Amino acid sequence: MFESLSERLEGAFKNLKGEAKITELNIAATVKEIRRALVDADVNYKIAKEFTDKVKDIALGTKVINAVSPGQLMTKIVKDELANLMGGTESSFNITGNPAVILIAGLQGSGKTTFSGKLANYLKSKGKSPLLVAADIYRPAAIDQLMVLGGQVGVEVYSERENKNAVEIAQNAIKEARAKNKNVVIIDTAGRLAVDEVMMTEVANIKSAVNPHEILFVVDSMTGQDAVNTAKAFNERLDFSGVVLTKLDGDTRGGAALSIKYTVEKPIKFVSSGEKLDTLDVFYPERMAQRILG
Ligand code: GDP
Repeated sequence: MFESLSERLEGAFKNLKGEAKITELNIAATVKEIRRALVDADVNYKIAKEFTDKVKDIALGTKVINAVSPGQLMTKIVKDELANLMGGTESSFNITGNPAVILIAGLQGSGKTTFSGKLANYLKSKGKSPLLVAADIYRPAAIDQLMVLGGQVGVEVYSERENKNAVEIAQNAIKEARAKNKNVVIIDTAGRLAVDEVMMTEVANIKSAVNPHEILFVVDSMTGQDAVNTAKAFNERLDFSGVVLTKLDGDTRGGAALSIKYTVEKPIKFVSSGEKLDTLDVFYPERMAQRILG
């Protein structure tokens, strides 16, 4: 992802070639092109405009020293501001409870269940002892899928096929974790094809009942501005603690990665890029900015 954005931004900086310093006049075309590139990467216009206004202010207020060309200076400013837009520095991930409870929420198809398996694998590799919980009371296939993933990563899966009360399942799972000395409980909740009241109420009820240490909202990065709107709706109801962006290996333009933090004021904590269970990465804004403008 980001190939097209990278190319466009680098193209924009070429406008400054041959200039000795940055002026209001010679920066205008560059700023305009940066804004267009962001909008084409599926960043909302208002965010793109605010971003470029800030870049412009910083650029005009920075002295170009001899060793650095205006193009190089702009690259550095844009890279730093992209990192800031995506959250600045790495965010924390709280797994200090015993057990630590992590609630996973998101739309069906977003990659929730796959992420739950990847997270269990990741935590296991960090020496934790996770328990996966299948709290989808609508789709038996979702339980089967989590069972398969759990089997692949060697992590036990808790489920109650006959129980139609997701809150109870979550509570029982935590008791089970205590009894079996598991120190992290990962609750994979049901997803719907669109945001709906029943789903939101159910996840909100689980949240109140189990008081999770982390609530992760999982979203498909390929859905662009829809991803951002869905994040808004989930955050209003759940006040989640972080975002997981999935399918970064796909044909995503990057808009969700660039604008989710700005919109919901919650950090992206993990990115997932592939169906293999070891393709989960902690999200580092600076590294992502570096990937865009290497
Ligand atoms: P859920 O309905 O939210 O639990 O979503 P799933 O975990 O079942 O994922 C939906 C589909 O997306 C499945 O076919 C997954 O294999 C696939 N998937 C999940 N994460 C990724 C990812 O990071 N990259 C790719 N390419 N596919 C993914």
